[in-house]
Amino acid sequence: MGLVLCMLLACIPTASAQFDPERLYAWPGDPIDGHVHMTWAAMTMEVNEWADDHPEIVDLVSAGESELGRALWVVRLSDWSMDTKPNGSSKEIVYIDGGHHGNEYLGTALAWLSAKWYINGWNEGNEEAVRVLQNSELHILIMLNPDGNDIDTRWNINQVDLNRNYDHYWNTCPTTQPGSAAFSEAETAANAAYINEHVTDADLYVTMHTGVWIILYPWGKWPEQPPDWELFWTIRDTVNDGISDIPIQNANQGLYPNCGTSRDYGYGHMGFPTFTFETDDEQFIPGSFENLNERLEEEMDVMRYLIGNVWYWRARLDVQSITVADEMLTLNVANHGLASTANASLEYRSPAGDILWASPYFTANASNATELSFAVDDDVFDEDGTWNMNYQKRVINAATWVNESVNSSVVVFVDDEDDRFLTGVGLFNPVAVMLGLLGVSVLIRPKEQDIGKES
Ligand SMILES: [Zn+2]
Repeated sequence: MGLVLCMLLACIPTASAQFDPERLYAWPGDPIDGHVHMTWAAMTMEVNEWADDHPEIVDLVSAGESELGRALWVVRLSDWSMDTKPNGSSKEIVYIDGGHHGNEYLGTALAWLSAKWYINGWNEGNEEAVRVLQNSELHILIMLNPDGNDIDTRWNINQVDLNRNYDHYWNTCPTTQPGSAAFSEAETAANAAYINEHVTDADLYVTMHTGVWIILYPWGKWPEQPPDWELFWTIRDTVNDGISDIPIQNANQGLYPNCGTSRDYGYGHMGFPTFTFETDDEQFIPGSFENLNERLEEEMDVMRYLIGNVWYWRARLDVQSITVADEMLTLNVANHGLASTANASLEYRSPAGDILWASPYFTANASNATELSFAVDDDVFDEDGTWNMNYQKRVINAATWVNESVNSSVVVFVDDEDDRFLTGVGLFNPVAVMLGLLGVSVLIRPKEQDIGKES
């Protein structure tokens, strides 16, 4: 690695890559023209040191190359000794990128700091950092536009605005320099390829810029609120109530109409909850560069909230009970997530996996319980089948579908034949009452018994 780095650095005629690993939050590289600036060469050196020094949590890959052939490093952070969370379930996925615009150093700095904070925290045994890295994967592409960064310009080397070059309503807004076609540029094509291959199941995507101090959620294309407005508003209110006064708005209204952005692509095409995090534009910090963690402390507090709570940024349906009685199925389902879903369905599958019955699509609102009843033919459920919830993680059309099994202990069958038999004996079928009280029993009528009774 040392030799490779020397070769890499020898190719770069820009400022020296001097940095001191002893300073925990020292910005790599020297200031250029008196403002915060990290060269791609210095960053390359630093992220490789992270990977060499902390292989248990840092996995470094390149998403591709810039137009001039510079690697687009992705720092992947997690407790790589475990494929899953400690409880055996899949880790949550977070995607972060910085540096679309080569002259927006503080935004790039926030992406860098988002990696550095968890690396330092892990090494210090910080409880929050350890919990996050045990339960999630953070994929952080710190500098998407190294060519523009090294010549201190917004554009890439082809004079294209990379954050107008994504394949989501590309070039449909008054905009400048969106490129010759969606994904015409190596940087955006590589970013989209990485997203589509490695983080398709992400429940958070934050893209980092510099400008007005604001956080923007979709859409940039339209002034209307996005389908998952509830989720975005909940996050906005929680941040503003206790973490930061930073304004959080729909991008179109908060900034101006913008199309072909990575934020709208991430939400509209991938179905992620996406945010553009704009740090302020006071990039010219006199004096010390050691205090980046303090300089961006409030922004980092917001990032820690978004990352630490990623489990909640989707619908999380949890079936409380399924009761089948008198040709009716009653479903009680809670949503522990903070996103709604509009396309939920309960399925009954045969042991071979065939869907024998599925409910119509229904909506389950965020942080709510929903009770629904469906007319059913009880005979469908005679097999020793399984129950599944099939739904989209969020309301947006592009949201990922999940199919999760339902614990059979919540399923109760009330036998019709017993109802009829007991008519006149009492108001309630004692079997049903008993099962309801126990709440744990499953009674599936054997098929032979039904055939005998019905015929
Ligand atoms: Zn920008």
